[in-house]
Amino acid sequence: MTARDLVDPFGRTIRDLRISVTDRCNFRCTYCMPAEGMVWLPKSEILSFEEIERVARLFVERYGVDGIRLTGGEPTVRAHLPVLVAKLATLVVPADSASPLAGQPIDLALTTNGATLVNCVDELRDAGLGRINISLDTLDREKFERMTRRDELERVLAGIDAACAAGLSSVKINAVVERGANDDEILDLAEFGRAKGVEVRFIEFMPLDAEGHWVNDKVVSQDEIVARIAAVHPLESVPARGAAPADRWRYLDGRGTVGVIPSVTKPFCGDCDRVRLTADGQFRTCLFATTEFDLRTRLRDGSSDDVVAAEIERAVGTKWAGHQINQVNFIRPKRTMSQIGG
Ligand code: SF4
Repeated sequence: MTARDLVDPFGRTIRDLRISVTDRCNFRCTYCMPAEGMVWLPKSEILSFEEIERVARLFVERYGVDGIRLTGGEPTVRAHLPVLVAKLATLVVPADSASPLAGQPIDLALTTNGATLVNCVDELRDAGLGRINISLDTLDREKFERMTRRDELERVLAGIDAACAAGLSSVKINAVVERGANDDEILDLAEFGRAKGVEVRFIEFMPLDAEGHWVNDKVVSQDEIVARIAAVHPLESVPARGAAPADRWRYLDGRGTVGVIPSVTKPFCGDCDRVRLTADGQFRTCLFATTEFDLRTRLRDGSSDDVVAAEIERAVGTKWAGHQINQVNFIRPKRTMSQIGG
């Protein structure tokens, strides 16, 4: 079967599939879920590895999707995760696809809170994982416990070191910045990245928290983040982000790069190439989508791949131009970040 591009109504080609493998997490980050956690999905509703692989193979082999990112909740709490990684790592982007990775293995990445990495990163690497993003919003132990409701900073820092030692093609740090919570550490986190030789990507606080505490005043803009860093460590912009969410800068002293994902103040929806599959098999064309498409039923009712693919195409045909945060018609999605995956 010849691969053909999956293009949305705004002419954007889908190349990146984010797959949430669980809604569960071992942290309780305040900007994500309440202290008591969420009502977890019953096991029967969670896609099996075989079902995830089937959907992933469809995207890669039919549409030339070349990037898959595994998310959660916290993906490493899903038992036997390296087994799934090994399945997905065998996927090759069709040589006849228009993807820049045509004929090559997919770009397989993971987003994690890092707390269990010391125990599993080598196995994930050996299974075929290529890149990893580790969430770290503070270097202060007490604040870490306040923000995540877990006293796990030491384990996360050890996880980052383990990931750096594992020889993955890329290790990045994701830091959500919330005014009044951790914006006083923007420089410390940037310097942490400079010292470790990893890129820190600051993420503007988004309205996806379970308790609905998000307000625009808590958003620290990209401009402010960059200005704070550049005041101490001069930067130059790295041109051409493409579809990647982060704008990036290079330190003029050669000590690496830093990124900012300006979801709220400078939305990048115009170049969006991403779609998402939730842990319970719902297909979302946008992080902030208010509608979903049920693939799980199709995967379990004997439907053919053609039928599943038709539902995917129908969904992409409805993808909107972009989120409407700060606009009068903005509607928060029913799902929280932990139920969608980053
Ligand atoms: S908000 Fe939606 S459309 Fe915009 S970049 Fe994110 S996923 Fe894409």
